[in-house]
Amino acid sequence: MKIEELYRLYTQSRKVTTDTRNILPASIFFALRGESFDGNEFALTALEKGAAFSVVDDPKYADNDRCILVPHVLETLQLLAAYHRDQLKIPVIGITGTNGKTTTKELLNAVLAEKYFTYCTQGNLNNHIGVPLTLLAIQPDVEMAIVEMGANHKREIAALCAIAKPNYGLITNIGKAHLEGFGGFEGVKVAKAELYDFMKETGGTIFVNDDNPILHELYSSKGITKRVTYGENELNDISGSIVSNDPLLTILWKSAEAFGELGTNLTGSYNLENILAAVAVGFHFDLSEEQVHTGISSYVPGNNRSQVIRTSSNTLICDYYNANPSSMQVAIDNLAAITANHKTLILGDMFELGEESEQEHQRIVDCAMEINADRNIFIGKAFSASKHSRNADFYADIQSAVEGIKSRPVSGSTILLKGSRGMKLETLLPLL
Ligand code: ATP
Ligand code: MG
Repeated sequence: MKIEELYRLYTQSRKVTTDTRNILPASIFFALRGESFDGNEFALTALEKGAAFSVVDDPKYADNDRCILVPHVLETLQLLAAYHRDQLKIPVIGITGTNGKTTTKELLNAVLAEKYFTYCTQGNLNNHIGVPLTLLAIQPDVEMAIVEMGANHKREIAALCAIAKPNYGLITNIGKAHLEGFGGFEGVKVAKAELYDFMKETGGTIFVNDDNPILHELYSSKGITKRVTYGENELNDISGSIVSNDPLLTILWKSAEAFGELGTNLTGSYNLENILAAVAVGFHFDLSEEQVHTGISSYVPGNNRSQVIRTSSNTLICDYYNANPSSMQVAIDNLAAITANHKTLILGDMFELGEESEQEHQRIVDCAMEINADRNIFIGKAFSASKHSRNADFYADIQSAVEGIKSRPVSGSTILLKGSRGMKLETLLPLL
């Protein structure tokens, strides 16, 4: 079937599903194959549950007139999404980077939604499947879209750009993550820069934290001139600084014409750049100061991304959605910077570091000890293998940490909880 024809079927409901557990009525079901399952096997179930058509790549279903046989289901999904994108005459902002993509995306969306009808990536649907699904969820009345793009291999961002065709690009930062897949830090740089390559080729505009030397060097070397800059340095189009961090941030922003003070529901000095990105984008798209302020101050982070929770005993900074050496470092720096009488670090292992794991865990232990928190608790095999310090507790796994904290409770403290998601640091919440 030609993509134009499939597109006509899609426009009958403008709904797409890939999971038979939540089939939307009249949607098109895409029978994706995974490592441990073959979506083709669910093609008929999807139809029974209300899908209008199933797109399959197993010829076994070719006779069913509601099954559409294609050479490769995932590629067809991507082609359909790219075709749909071409029909949408709206600005699309593409966001990638090592850390802060989702937070930045949500802040941009919170701001832009004050003036426009927006759509943005739901949750973390940012890969070769998530980006097409995000695009296909954009309805005709949407005026602007913000699309998160994730990658752990080279050429992935280039492929996602070819589908989403962003007219605006934002790389949050480039740090150490997924080093295994990228083949080291240089590989991470090349991979993220694929968004800048696309902007250069298509004449798009970038939003860039120009204080970041890696990003500055990258866009300069590619000769990108259409840019809006933000950062702490006053030479940026939008500059700003932290007024207080206790642990929620209040910031000051400044443009060539105006300035303002802004309270937020975010913690983490690293969030300053994410907030300034949203201020820069808001003004670029002609929002008023009031709209920018309302958008940012009303945004409350979820999903344990720098979420502040006050319990009866402690103030928790829950940041165990993920962890890598760069996000770990900034989270530690933030705990050092905030105003609090008593501080505790609870850090869990960082996964996917390949051969740099040992060295990176040791480095984090050393940095953590430097900020002189009142208590330091390290959890996981990798941390436990690092050189022990007398002022710290090391636990090989979460269960022994539970026992340890039970026997010596933490109270009256501002606690940073950070580690890879698989470390399940949330297990400790009832004790804190
Ligand atoms: P993922 O790769 O899982 O999609 P992400 O890039 O979407 O992650 P977020 O979910 O926004 O990132 O944030 C994850 C964590 O990264 C935060 O909780 C925080 O610790 C850290 N982080 C957020 N913004 C920055 C930043 N600008 N610089 C460094 N670290 C940051
Ligand atoms: Mg994300």
